[in-house]
Amino acid sequence: MKDSELHHELMQMIRAQGANLVGVGPVERFKGAPRGHRPEDIVPGAQSVITFGIRIPHLASHWPELGMARDSEILPSENRPEMLQNFFYHTVGYDLINDRLNQIALQVANVLEEAGYRSIFFPATFGASYNRFQELIPGAGFGLFSLRHAAVLSGLAEFGLNNVAVTSKYGPRIRFNAVITAAHFPPTSLLKEKVCLGAECSQCVTECPEGCITLLPTSRDEIFWHSPPARSDVARCRETRKSHYCMGRCIRVCPVGGQ
Ligand code: SF4
Ligand code: SF4
Repeated sequence: MKDSELHHELMQMIRAQGANLVGVGPVERFKGAPRGHRPEDIVPGAQSVITFGIRIPHLASHWPELGMARDSEILPSENRPEMLQNFFYHTVGYDLINDRLNQIALQVANVLEEAGYRSIFFPATFGASYNRFQELIPGAGFGLFSLRHAAVLSGLAEFGLNNVAVTSKYGPRIRFNAVITAAHFPPTSLLKEKVCLGAECSQCVTECPEGCITLLPTSRDEIFWHSPPARSDVARCRETRKSHYCMGRCIRVCPVGGQ
């Protein structure tokens, strides 16, 4: 099979498996990645990063809108926010999507390997390995390969002030995985228009109940954000999920890609 046919087949397969967005980032775009975490550090001879995303259903990210169990005779009202957060945001909007992303990535990597190209992917977060990584490096709020950067550098998104990859169609309410491969495919153009509304909006920053997002002093609104324009206090964010039932407020309030 020619590479052009393989590329076409993969794009179709990824979409047929439920991905809403897919793009290709050539490895040259990742040259600013930390040593040991560049595509070619992970796959010898890496040429391309194929990145794909699945949107979060509206009510999974906007779970506080759900009327479920209001005035329930079974569930005490004080337990309701935790239940909603866990069932809808954490399970439907996070784990199930990541499971599907991982299945797609496995299939893509195996098709590529069958075609003769070394390929691998990292499981999207919340696997046992990721949890172990978090234990080894306390406070780490990153993966060993940045899927947010992969989304931006594959032409699907811009970094937003919330430090999440923001897409024009779904805002930041989408999750990603990526396959790093030795196959060379035509790159997807980087986005040309800014997506995040920047300082004039700042809703993600002002609505964070614990002030976990801090704007970098070098951040300028008029440039396209290929790298995060802010820093997030990941440890504090994690704690906030328990006390404020915040989970995902900084992606929920984003007006981009309103559903
Ligand atoms: S999830 Fe909540 S606590 Fe964490 S950064 Fe976003 S708004 Fe802040
Ligand atoms: S809420 Fe506003 S500032 Fe934050 S990511 Fe969305 S558009 Fe950007």
